[in-house]
Amino acid sequence: MGEKTPLIEVENLSKTFGLLPVLRGVSFGVARGETIMLLGQNGSGKSTLLRLLAGLSKPTAGFIRIGGWQLPKEAMAVRRQIGLVSHQPLLYGDLSARENLDFFGKLYGLAKAERDEAIEALLDRVGLAKRADSLARSFSRGMQQRLSIARAIMHQPDILLLDEPFTGLDQAAAERLEDLVMSAQREGRTLIMTTHQLGRAPALASRALILSRGGIAFDGNIATMSAASLGELYAELCGGAAVA
Ligand code: ADP
Ligand code: MG
Repeated sequence: MGEKTPLIEVENLSKTFGLLPVLRGVSFGVARGETIMLLGQNGSGKSTLLRLLAGLSKPTAGFIRIGGWQLPKEAMAVRRQIGLVSHQPLLYGDLSARENLDFFGKLYGLAKAERDEAIEALLDRVGLAKRADSLARSFSRGMQQRLSIARAIMHQPDILLLDEPFTGLDQAAAERLEDLVMSAQREGRTLIMTTHQLGRAPALASRALILSRGGIAFDGNIATMSAASLGELYAELCGGAAVA
């Protein structure tokens, strides 16, 4: 693979549910280490696109290649490189926070000593060290979200896909998540995240993709844009205001 090959290559990707075309021939590339903010109205296909990239759903047409692996054929190899935080927390309510992480650590193939070390560090990093032995079902939405994030980064994936990760987090937890995103960036990881909160976008990502009517209505640099001008651009392309 040449140095210039993007880590993630999406070409002419389409996804249709029954008669509903959600993505119609979407193409873009993502370089290693980039952070992309994926924006668009409710129902524009953001979660659908992240699920396709995570190998959890199959394209109707087009192709996705990640780190040289082709989806959906090589989904197992792709999943090892990806951590996904989605709307569904994907946790076991009857297991404690620590047991949940241990379970997923086993799935990721981590040895016992590696798991033990990683779990303590992760619980601390997401602010759940004191609740390590509480059952996941006793957790608030925000705490479940934090445990999901710990689960998603446990195997040190090259790529993090974060679907509305700030939803349900209070101010302190949101700041902790921003720190975590920034340290993932410093570690050279590649991130694609969605948010309704346009105001957060320019601080976290230099590039945004705006999905509208099944296509990419905007793909460009937002690092130098104010939240207000991003809001205007968004309203123009998507025909509605977003949460600031
Ligand atoms: P977003 O995350 O941008 O809000 P989604 O990707 O969740 O949008 O959904 C895009 C569209 O696809 C919506 O109209 C949604 O109802 C539809 N959709 C998503 N997943 C499914 C599914 N599994 N079956 C049928 N329709 C779906
Ligand atoms: Mg969604």
